[in-house]
Amino acid sequence: MTESRQVVIIGSGPAGLTAAIYASRAQLSPLVIEGEPSSTSDQPGGQLMLTTEVENYPGFVDGIMGPELMQNFRAQAARFGAEYLTDKVSRVDLSSRPFGVWVGDPDTAEPSYAAEALIISTGAKSLMLNLPNEERLLGYGVSTCATCDGFFFREREIAVVGGGDSALEEALFLTRFADKVTLIHRRGELRASKVMQQRAFANPKISFLWNTSVIDVLGDTTVSGIKVRDNVSEQESEIALSGLFVAIGHQPNTDLFKGQLELRENGYIRTFDGTRTNVDGVFACGDVQDDRWRQAITAAGSGCAAAIDVERWLEEQAAVH
Ligand code: NAP
Repeated sequence: MTESRQVVIIGSGPAGLTAAIYASRAQLSPLVIEGEPSSTSDQPGGQLMLTTEVENYPGFVDGIMGPELMQNFRAQAARFGAEYLTDKVSRVDLSSRPFGVWVGDPDTAEPSYAAEALIISTGAKSLMLNLPNEERLLGYGVSTCATCDGFFFREREIAVVGGGDSALEEALFLTRFADKVTLIHRRGELRASKVMQQRAFANPKISFLWNTSVIDVLGDTTVSGIKVRDNVSEQESEIALSGLFVAIGHQPNTDLFKGQLELRENGYIRTFDGTRTNVDGVFACGDVQDDRWRQAITAAGSGCAAAIDVERWLEEQAAVH
């Protein structure tokens, strides 16, 4: 049986849950399909569930743990009537309205939900190195966000992995806090833009480890070092340090929408005039359409914008019909 809904929100990070707060307060009774707890990339609450302390979210003078912040967002939207489904969307049909949304078996003929409007807030994931102890120490010395976690590494020695603009931007930012930043790149040449390279080479706190791959992270409860392999000599060695920043790129969670929504060349959803996508009635917010800021507060801001855009769009539809 297909259930009709006015607004379905796919994804429950800061963007989706802020959209849920605004949409529920606008009496749109949103359903948030929040993801699967067993997944590390599509988990309810999004990327903040993988962090420890969040110190840059305005309003929390002493910081707040990422999971607690997301629990608060969730409870706040529930207070105004947002409903949650703890599951993964397996398929969408955006070819006609109402839009079809499937959870469970994607081959079922009838969708699980028929949505008048859709808010996509499926986020992005940081590409990881897939090292044996990387996930275990994520939030305990392994990080994917210098802006979020750099402050915890004051006067420490840390490393950044990657050779693109992100890695150099992270390394440069981290020199504000750390005593020493080692940039580890698997090849002998950076991919980053020349201007970023010049800045990094000129920074006395940054040193480079070329042709080197990180093969594991060491530490019981927090990071104490890394194991690396020289890709030329194939020799392995250990380096003592207290933080490892993985900056090898991000991937937006857009697989569900390929071929149905316009994506930019780098795979992020293209938005127009606020949070609209190229499909009338489908809106996108948060990291799934943002490769620029990627912050919880900017995601939350765009979630608010999406809910307001949806509310106005639904009013326009009602006026037309
Ligand atoms: P990117 O340009 O794709 O670079 C990823 C880097 O990570 C590459 O150096 C790559 O090595 C390395 N890498 C990938 N997988 C790896 C693995 N498994 N193990 C070790 N190293 C691995 O990604 P990005 O730096 O996130 O940048 C994405 C886009 O955003 C780019 O277009 C970039 O210019 C842009 N950006 C711009 C700015 C800015 O202008 N301020 C800041 C950030 C990003 P190889 O080089 O060997 O492939």
